[in-house]
Order: sequence, then structure tokens, then C-alpha cells
Amino acid sequence: MTKTYTIVALKGDGIGPEVTEATIKVLEAVEKKSNFKLDILYGEAGAHCIPQYGTNLPQETLELIKNSNACLKGPMTTPEEAGAPVSVAVTLRRIFNLYANVRPCRTYPNVNSIKPNIDLVVVRENTEGLYSGAEALLTPGVGIALRIITKEASLKVAEFAFKLAMQRKKHLTYIHKGNILRITDGIFKDAVKEIQTKYPEVEVDDLHIDAATMQLIKQPEKYDVMVTTNLFGDIISDEAAQVTGSLGLAAGANIGENYGMFEPVHGSAPKYTNMNRVNPIATIMAGVMMLDYLGEKTAAKIIENAILNVLEEGKVRTHDLGGQAKGTEITDAIVAKI
Ligand code: NAD
Repeated sequence: MTKTYTIVALKGDGIGPEVTEATIKVLEAVEKKSNFKLDILYGEAGAHCIPQYGTNLPQETLELIKNSNACLKGPMTTPEEAGAPVSVAVTLRRIFNLYANVRPCRTYPNVNSIKPNIDLVVVRENTEGLYSGAEALLTPGVGIALRIITKEASLKVAEFAFKLAMQRKKHLTYIHKGNILRITDGIFKDAVKEIQTKYPEVEVDDLHIDAATMQLIKQPEKYDVMVTTNLFGDIISDEAAQVTGSLGLAAGANIGENYGMFEPVHGSAPKYTNMNRVNPIATIMAGVMMLDYLGEKTAAKIIENAILNVLEEGKVRTHDLGGQAKGTEITDAIVAKI
């Protein structure tokens, strides 16, 4: 029997709609060649919803997501004023307890990267840390933010990272700032060491976050799985994406026990809105990760190979890759390969 997956697509704002539409075009192309159906429902979310709904994630959208198999989320602008709704991604990660943010970074053919042969995955704790959003103004000019680290969340993300390392090169690096944040990163470090006892085959080492940012420039090819807390993971995954060529290629999966949400690592890049200039591959790769999560590994591989073929040929290159092609041109080239 043909399987049907209900997917909620959130186009978001800024460059979100164009990169999400590109991804859906690619997903529909592979669907035609596969033995499954995608029932794609569109939900409204993003900064543009705030004037109408008073929130960037309307209840109707949340209900759609609750009844779906996965969410494909385009990037969205998050207002920075105090009191504004928190980021949609952060809200969804919390509501669905999407505790692991998985961000692969690898060298691509014909794409300039700092070093050849980079193939690493940043696994970022996704529900707590400095993204608790708990901030207070103690007195004018003095503010505090709570960096919440729990043993429970640290154990979960560590277990996820070790399992991933077992499927890859069996090397795990945990990143922290335990020399300064002795209590919070002490909890995180202890959790990693506790899980390590279950995976004796995995080679384990650790880095302070400052040294990790330097090592990612100096010898990124040395790393396999890098696991860390929320903010550190956000920072090093952007860095790793650029080290391998462009933020326009990097995708992320947000994985929980019962749900997965998939998005590009980059944001809404508002200055490029409606210019058909940015690279849709990051979001298309998020679609690849979504198919993989749903168990449609052949379809995921078909899209990934199409992307690799297009990059290898080097005829259609977007601006971030040193070319002049429009976003729709690279999407069409990928669809043609499929
Ligand atoms: P950004 O990732 O949107 O853009 C930074 C720069 O990266 C861009 O100016 C552009 O040069 C480059 N870039 C990004 N995407 C690209 C693509 N697909 N192709 C080519 N180049 C690309 O980061 P920002 O400027 O810090 O944030 C803009 C907005 O996005 C903010 O409101 C922020 O809160 C939001 N944001 C949202 C998410 C999310 O939805 N998950 C993630 C990060 C940032």
C-alpha cells in the first residue's frame, strides 16, 4: 500500500517562501518517482503573523503540526524587542521536545572550503541552555540571563550523539566551557562521560568552545560528531557551514522522541527578500533529512545525488557559490537531475 505522509510546510518570511517553495518543487519531483505520497499542508508562521494574530505561531498552525508526520520550516525573522514573541523554531523545539538539533557540514564538489574532506555533524542540545529565554533586568543597566543545564537533557542529547557516532566514524568531541562554567558545564560533561561508558568503541575527546572555534578553522577534517550545549552549538554550526563553503548549503534536523522538524541553518536574510538570489540548497537538504527521518532513504538519496551532480557540473552556481544563477535556476537544475 502506498504510504502517505502529512507534512506541514511553514514558508516563513524574508527569503523563507522562496527557499521553501523550491524544496517543495524538489520533493514533488521525487514523489512522482517514489512509492509514497506527500500530503503537504501550509501553515502560517513568522513575524508577518504578529499584527494579525498577536503571535508568530498561530494556534491553527500548531494544530496542523500536532496532526502531522513532520514539519518543513522555512526561515523566519525574530523580532528583537523585549517582550516580542520568541522565535518560532525555539517554541516548536520546546513544545515537541525536539531535544537534538543535528547539523551536518561537509565539503561539496566544486565548492570552495577551507580544507578538503570535511564531514562532520554538530549535535546541539536544543531545549535549554541560554535559549531558556529567562532574562531579567535587575536594575537599570544590569541584566541577567539564565543558562539552564539539566542532567536529563544532557543525557538525552549525549545518547543521541553517541548513537550517531556509532553509525559514522566513531569519533565524538564534546564541547564546553567547563573551566569557567563549572556547575552548568560540569553537569553536561558528567552526562557525556556517563553515556560514554555504554559506547566503548567511540573515541572521545573534548574541547573548550573557544578552542573549538579555532580548531574548526585549523583542522575541521579531524572531526566527526561534535556535541554541545545550545548556544555553543548554534555558533559552531554556522561557523562549520561557512568553513565548508556557504551557509546556503547547511541544513538542520530537530529531532525528538515523536516528531521531527527540518529547516535550513540560516535565517531569513531579509535584505535578499524576493530577489531570487539566495541558495535554496540548505532548505532542500533539510527536505532530504526529512525524507531520511520518515524512512524514505532511497528518495532522500535521489535528491542528494541530484544536488551533488549539479554542484559537480558547476554550470549553475548561485551567488554564494561564486556564480550568477538565480535560486529558481539551481532548483530547476536539481529537478531536472531527479
Ligand atoms: P541569516 O542567516 O538570515 O543571514 C546572514 C547572511 O548569510 C545573509 O546576509 C547572507 O549573506 C547569508 N545567507 C543566509 N542564507 C543564505 C542562503 N540561502 N544563500 C546564500 N546566502 C545566505 O542571519 P541573520 O542576518 O543573523 O538573521 C536574519 C533573521 O533571521 C533574524 O531575524 C534572525 O532572528 C532570523 N533567524 C532565523 C532562524 C530560523 O528561522 N531558524 C535562524 C537564524 C536566524
